[in-house]
Amino acid sequence: MGEEVLKPTKEKFDEWYNEIVEKADLCDKRYPIKGMNVWKPYGWKLMQNIDKLIREEMERTNHQEVCFPLLIPESFFKKEEEHIKGFSSEVYWVTHAGKNELEERLLLRPTSETALYPLFSLWIRSHADLPLKTFQIVNTFRYETKMTKAFIRVREIHFFEAHTCHESFEDAEKQIREDLEIAKRFFRKLCIPFIISKRPDWDKFAGAFYSIGLDVLMPSMKTLQVGSIHQYKQNFSIPFEIKFEGKDGKHYYCHQTTYGMSERVLGAIIGIHGDERGLKIPSSIAPIKVVIIPIIFKGWEEKILEECKKLKKEIEEIGLTCFLDARDKTPGSKFYDWELKGVPLRVEVGPKDLENKMITISLRDGIKKKIKRDEIEKLKDELKEYDERIYKKAEEFLHKNIHVLKEICKDAEGIVELPWCGKEECGKEMEERMDMKSLGIPLPEKECNEKCAICSDKATTWLRLARTY
Ligand code: ZN
Repeated sequence: MGEEVLKPTKEKFDEWYNEIVEKADLCDKRYPIKGMNVWKPYGWKLMQNIDKLIREEMERTNHQEVCFPLLIPESFFKKEEEHIKGFSSEVYWVTHAGKNELEERLLLRPTSETALYPLFSLWIRSHADLPLKTFQIVNTFRYETKMTKAFIRVREIHFFEAHTCHESFEDAEKQIREDLEIAKRFFRKLCIPFIISKRPDWDKFAGAFYSIGLDVLMPSMKTLQVGSIHQYKQNFSIPFEIKFEGKDGKHYYCHQTTYGMSERVLGAIIGIHGDERGLKIPSSIAPIKVVIIPIIFKGWEEKILEECKKLKKEIEEIGLTCFLDARDKTPGSKFYDWELKGVPLRVEVGPKDLENKMITISLRDGIKKKIKRDEIEKLKDELKEYDERIYKKAEEFLHKNIHVLKEICKDAEGIVELPWCGKEECGKEMEERMDMKSLGIPLPEKECNEKCAICSDKATTWLRLARTY
């Protein structure tokens, strides 16, 4: 057996996380630029499988994939004032080509509004061109000053961004409702429960009319933002002159929205499902769904291996990715390796199984059973049930740690909701006194008949707070 891994308890979580991402072969942190990830094959395959689920959702909802240049001219970037303020301290600049200084500085996109929108203004002419629904999955660059953390706080971001343009504010609102539905379907497939909050005005995206954050709770009791949706209204379409001719022949500025996610989704999967033995990958994205381990006894070598090969073929034929681990190692050390990598289902084949026409299966969350050799099709149901179990477990953890309070309580951990009058000064005082950050107003909005936890005025809503990554 290999060496012990740490337990992802509240206190030890960050240590566990930093260790597991390398032990499970997701990334290599030795690259000399901090926050720029080297994806190893297993980690990259996982990320690609996550992207595949995103692309499926985009296709289903009629978004078109585009791919824009990495470099943005300074003049484009400067068009929206709030946006520049929000990002200017994080931008990487390209100033030279060889020895020559460039006439205009170029920046590595920190996000792509200012690259896309000048072109959108050329693409969109009439109401018949709307809605325009696009997305891209590209790398973006932000100079993080805080300590970097694999997949969670990085400087080169593996970024999904959807950008849409609409005729009216109401059409854009409809898009946001569709985005929330996309998020629900997408995260459900990853067995990740999340909460939705309308960010407070002082924490919205640079340039947005309002922002919605999708957050998950990690075992460290800190929340992690795994997605964000923004209503831009006409804040970008006016400076970028994205106009269309309406049915009445007049010209109007578009209403716009964006929806963004990143490799933080993978960070959430690692953190939320993992345990002391390693990762626990949902079957929807597992690069290997089933691993076969031959249990070799003397005199049985050939028969067992032959049977394992047949089994592998049959499992692949029902559409499950399968790996036969025929390495010259003990079964125990193979179990250890694949548990660390979070493979959802392990099949063991030994002499007894062969004689009884059975196979022994173990799900990564501890369930072990025997099934009939000629009922391989059942493995699919087993994986479905496994996904269901890890989702339920994560959901229980999340709900157990949401605390609806009436007043400030300094010992509270996890996610806290306090009655709020809506004033910024009260919200900020809650942050300070709770030593937490506000996530915003819970969505869908909940009625509140309490008094503001700070000023005792009538509370109009709840403010959700947590310690955050
Ligand atoms: Zn108040």
